[in-house]
Amino acid sequence: MSLTFDEFGRPFIVIREQGKKKRVKGLDAVKANLLAARTVVNMLRTSLGPRGMDKMLTDPDGEVTVTNDGATILEKMQMENQIARLLVELSRSQDDEIGDGTTGVVVLAGALLEQAGTLLDKGIHPIRIADGYDRACEVAVERLEQISESIDVKGEGRDVLLRTAYSTLSSKIVNRDHKKMAEIAVEAVLSVADLDRKDVNLDLIKLDGEIGGRLEDTTLVHGIVLKKEFSHPQMPKAVHDAKIALLTCPFEAPKPKTKYHIDIDSKEKYDRLAKAEQEFFPEMIKLVKDSGANLVLCQWGFEDEANHLLYKNELPAVRWVGGVELELIALATHAHIVPRFQELSEEKLGRAGLVREVSLGTTKDRVLYIEQCANSRAVTIFVRGGNKMLIEEAKRSLHDALCIVRNLVRDGRIVYGGGSAEIACSIAVADQAEKVASIDQYGMRAFADALEAIPTTLAENSGFSAIEMMADIRAEQVKTGNPHLGVDCLSRGTWDMKTQSVFETLIGKQQQLRLATQVVKMILKIDDVIDARDAED
Ligand code: ADP
Repeated sequence: MSLTFDEFGRPFIVIREQGKKKRVKGLDAVKANLLAARTVVNMLRTSLGPRGMDKMLTDPDGEVTVTNDGATILEKMQMENQIARLLVELSRSQDDEIGDGTTGVVVLAGALLEQAGTLLDKGIHPIRIADGYDRACEVAVERLEQISESIDVKGEGRDVLLRTAYSTLSSKIVNRDHKKMAEIAVEAVLSVADLDRKDVNLDLIKLDGEIGGRLEDTTLVHGIVLKKEFSHPQMPKAVHDAKIALLTCPFEAPKPKTKYHIDIDSKEKYDRLAKAEQEFFPEMIKLVKDSGANLVLCQWGFEDEANHLLYKNELPAVRWVGGVELELIALATHAHIVPRFQELSEEKLGRAGLVREVSLGTTKDRVLYIEQCANSRAVTIFVRGGNKMLIEEAKRSLHDALCIVRNLVRDGRIVYGGGSAEIACSIAVADQAEKVASIDQYGMRAFADALEAIPTTLAENSGFSAIEMMADIRAEQVKTGNPHLGVDCLSRGTWDMKTQSVFETLIGKQQQLRLATQVVKMILKIDDVIDARDAED
């Protein structure tokens, strides 16, 4: 409420609209939150699995993204609702720590919330539901460990790595060529991995891309990709045993830093100036050659005159190399960035086994591959594709595959996919629930039901009659005791995911269960929602 005066000085009172400050309390708050979460989950669930659908999202700038990755979809949706944002966070945590399973974790959280809604209607207190979920989650995580299998990454494990990367990529947009992509991902991780310490530094793998060519032209470069070409078309296209001079000074005559003025009023004076300028170039080139360099990367451009002289002196050169790239190359090749020709010397040069210019696919674009760098095992995955959308999605998919392979190198235990692990856990949790005397039993049974959401959704998305199939697989798992039976999304004729080689990492799956349970518990404990946006005090 506030007192104001109109233009004649008469006072009047402005009363703020009361309806603006929103507040929901108690069970209503919990239920409203469940509803909000369900809306998000329902939208996302259709993109789970190898037969999942993609989403097309346009941001306020009109940029279009087509993706199947849960974390990306949620991120781009710009949601206002607080609970929806929690789910975005959930997906992001899974992405940060594991890198895959970002859709699955949200679908699972959604199912847990849905089950919680039913229990709330029965009059069970949210805290008891949360406790039940907690106990059930422990049982499920333990069951996952029991059914997991270990692989030896060093030995025949490479094949398993390949097949795991392959499974991950098969549900993505790039599945047209996922065999090659899987190979690239495995090769990239293995080239930067320290297998004895079971450590992989993913920062050493750079994902880069350029529009043009086909997805199949994507390559793994053991070094750095520089989107530049040699400055003269007749320079050699490859330099072996490169000794690289990194220059931040231009190949041109020095100019005074302050304003200056030269009067040229006769041809003789002009000739003298041109001659004086030209004399600088041979001197510069001599300094570079004397240092022992056989390749020059320069931050600036150079004139035709200098370019010609460089070519004449058999000194391949690249111009307009960006500052960031220059630093990257300096790090990788052990080079110093040199600001003056006079400071060049042998020990300031960078070393690389091979620097070559490559033309890409059908386009005329050329890039430089700087390979076998002295200081780094860094590799670059260079993605090609017809448009930006495709390249971005391919990069996201490759990122998922890289993460999966890294997780396997760190912890070589796997469980089988297609919802088989979830069904096995669901059976274990339901069994355990029978033995619990307290009211937590309800929460545990609800958890067991919620676990079935993953296989059910996979079956739905593959166009099967989901409930019926779910019941059949579950019954078969109980009968045979085989925890590898899951949904045959691609109609290969067997439910056995081991035969189909559909893998997932144990830690990824455990993390999904833990994160989903955590978020659901958090949502269940919120019983007062106050939205003070747009409201005045
Ligand atoms: P996320 O973003 O959660 O990784 P995906 O869309 O990649 O979601 O789908 C992953 C799910 O699809 C997992 O449950 C995995 O087991 C399952 N899946 C992947 N490939 C197959 C397959 N060939 N057959 C059956 N299930 C599969």
